Amino acid sequence: MRSPIQPYLRNVLDGIAERRDGALADYIPELAGVDPEPFGVAIAMLDGQTYAAGDADLPFTIQSVAKAFTYALAIRERGLDQVLEHIGIEPSGDAFNRISVDERGRPANPMINAGAIATFALVPGETAAEKFSAVLGFLSACAGRTLTVDESICASEWGAAYRNLGIANILRAGDALAAEPAVAVEGYIRQSSVLVTTRDLAVMGATLASGGVQPVTRERVIDEEIAGHVLSVMTTCGMYDAAGDWVSAVGIPAKSGVGGGIVGASPGRIGLAAFSPRLDRHGNSVRAVAACERLSRDLGLHLMRIP
Ligand code: GLU
Repeated sequence: MRSPIQPYLRNVLDGIAERRDGALADYIPELAGVDPEPFGVAIAMLDGQTYAAGDADLPFTIQSVAKAFTYALAIRERGLDQVLEHIGIEPSGDAFNRISVDERGRPANPMINAGAIATFALVPGETAAEKFSAVLGFLSACAGRTLTVDESICASEWGAAYRNLGIANILRAGDALAAEPAVAVEGYIRQSSVLVTTRDLAVMGATLASGGVQPVTRERVIDEEIAGHVLSVMTTCGMYDAAGDWVSAVGIPAKSGVGGGIVGASPGRIGLAAFSPRLDRHGNSVRAVAACERLSRDLGLHLMRIP
C-alpha cells in the first residue's frame, strides 16, 4: 500500500511554494548566484525509512547545519568537559557572524561562527586537511553515504573570509582557539561547503533523534548522552537570533544554514529537514521554516505542547 505520508508532504510543499519572500545569502559571491526556486522537504523514521517531496534529492551546501554535527564529533573526541572549557552553551541573541564571547573569553555557543570555528579547532588533527577529513567522515557517517565538497563555493568563501579570520584571530589572542586561525577557518569553510540533500539532512536529524544511532547503517556514531546535549544546545541556539521564535512556534531542536537547509530532530521520534534558498532577515530559509512549522503542528512534534 502506498504511504499517505508522501501526498501529505507534497501538500505541505504546495501550500508554501508560492512564497517568494526573502533573499539569497549574498556575502559569499557563489551563493548569491544559486537558483532560488528549489524547495524540498523530507522525513526520516528511526528505522531508516525516508519520505520526501519536491527537490529533496538536490544537493546544496550544508553551511551552518554542520555546526551541530561537528560539535557532536568534538565532544565525542575530546569529552564534554574539555569542549565546555572552550565554548559556552548560552544563546547569544546575536547574528551568526558576531564576535560574541562571554566573560571567560569563550564564544557564547557552538552554533554561531565564533563557537563553530573554536569547535572545529578541537577536532583531532594537526592540519586543516586532517581535521576536515575527520569532520567529513563524521558527517558522512551520519548521512550514511560519502559526502563531497562544493569546491567553487568553498573557494569563493575562502576568498572573502575576512570576518571569520578576524573572529578566529580574536579568539586565538584570547587563548580560546586550539589551532592557528588560518587552519581553523580554512577547515571550517570546507566544512560549510559540504554538499548534502534534504533527504540526507533528514537522516542526519534522525541520527540525533535516535540518541546517536544512524538509522540506515545502524552504526552508533555518538553516545546517547552526547546526542541529548547537542539537541539541547540546538534547541536554545540553533536558529541564529530567531531561536526564541523557533522554540515557541516549532518547538524541536534544529539547526539552519545560509544555504537554505534546516535539520530538525524530534527526540525518539523522527528526523526532518527542509530546504529552499531564500532567507529571512535572521538567515533562516523562509519556506523551510514554514514547512517545519507545518510539520510540527500537524504531527504534534512540539516538545512543550501536550499532543
Ligand atoms: N559559511 C558560513 C559562514 O561562516 C556559514 C554561515 C551559516 O550558514 O550561518 O559565514
